[in-house]
Order: sequence, then C-alpha cells, then structure tokens
Amino acid sequence: MTAFLFDPPPPPSVAIRGSDMRFPVRRIFCVGRNYAAHAREMGKDPDRDPPFFFTKPADSVVDSGAVIPYPPLTKNLHHEIELVVAIGRPGFRIAREEAADHVWGFGVGIDLTRRDLQEDAKATGRPWDWSKGFDRSAPCAPLVSAGDAGALTGRRIWLSVNGAMRQDASLAELIWPVDDIVASCSAAVELQAGDLIFTGTPAGVGPLVPGDRVSGGIDGLGTIDITIGPAG
Ligand code: MN
Repeated sequence: MTAFLFDPPPPPSVAIRGSDMRFPVRRIFCVGRNYAAHAREMGKDPDRDPPFFFTKPADSVVDSGAVIPYPPLTKNLHHEIELVVAIGRPGFRIAREEAADHVWGFGVGIDLTRRDLQEDAKATGRPWDWSKGFDRSAPCAPLVSAGDAGALTGRRIWLSVNGAMRQDASLAELIWPVDDIVASCSAAVELQAGDLIFTGTPAGVGPLVPGDRVSGGIDGLGTIDITIGPAG
C-alpha cells in the first residue's frame, strides 16, 4: 500500500438523484461557446468552428443548496447555466456514434465566471484559469442517469436570479450536441469515468451580487439552487 506524507483529500463528488451514492469527479471540462445567441452577446460570430475547451479543478464542484461566498479578485461574477455530461466509461478518440456508450448521465450546473478577469485574459492573451477555475466555481445539481434522463433534445434550460428569469433557452440551440462534444473532447484527452463536461451556456449571462438567490434547471433533469454569500 502506498504511504502518503499526509492523508490525501477525499475525492470531489457530485450527488446522484434518488441515491445515497455519489459520483466521484476526476476532471471537469467546459465548452467555451456552444449557443449562437450567447456567442453573439460575447461579441463573437457563431459559426461551426470546432468546439474549444477549458477546465476547472475537480474540487471546484459544489452541491446544490450551497451558499457560495462572493469570490475574490472580481467585481463582475457571472452565472452561466449549463447542461453537464457525466462520463461513466473511459474512451479515447470516441466516435460520435459511440459517444452515448461513454455517458453515465446528465446534470445541471452553473459555470461561475469572473467575467472581468476573463475579459482581461482575452485582451492580454493570458490563460482563462483564474476567471473560470476558482474555488466553488462549479455548482452542480444531483446527476440523473442517461436512462432516467431520456432524450434531451428540445428540453428547456433556464436560470433565474431572485425570481427574475435571466436565461431561458432550449437544448435544441446547442451548436454542438452532446455526442459531438464527447467525441471532440476525447480527441484531445483520454476521458475517464468520473469526468464531467459542462457543455456551454445560452444567452442571458449576467452579474451576481452577495445575497442573490440563483435557481436554474433543465426540464426533466432537476434544478439547482445556490445563494451568493458575502465576500469570503
Ligand atoms: Mn460556460
């Protein structure tokens, strides 16, 4: 048995709907731009350029219901509601026709973003890590197995802040559907069971402030609720 210098931290994990078991998280991949209207609101031309990815630390996951302290270094924390894909079977260079075999299930997540840091990074050609991969930046609702989730095409995806609707769209608007995303991501890295893929956000992203109650959901996949707390 391996002897460690100190006890390794417990693996990050996400709840599973209707189960006492949790989904252990290995890595978190995120798609940068996957809804045309959101690409436009960010000043980009939505074409069929191949999807691009960034990552968040696995331990940035947070359960629904959490109070998330307003993070440091930003004055413009944004919400991005997203469909999350949970990988259950390893795969490298997965064909899109076989992608579904590697998907355990789905969830609803919020890609919290320090938008001002992201804009600085874009302008200066620096990495996105500090804008996307900060502590507690990946709240995720309990996952639902693919069998229980059923076909996702056309499901509504939405997010509200203090009861006011901010993002309201359809998964039919995804430029790159789940199978393409899994194929594309696995062309770059070998996917493993426990990987999560945040698939991009629809239009309507916007700022959050301490005290905001954020709710989001995807029809048939459940809802996520978080509260933004005072600066940590
Ligand atoms: Mn996003």
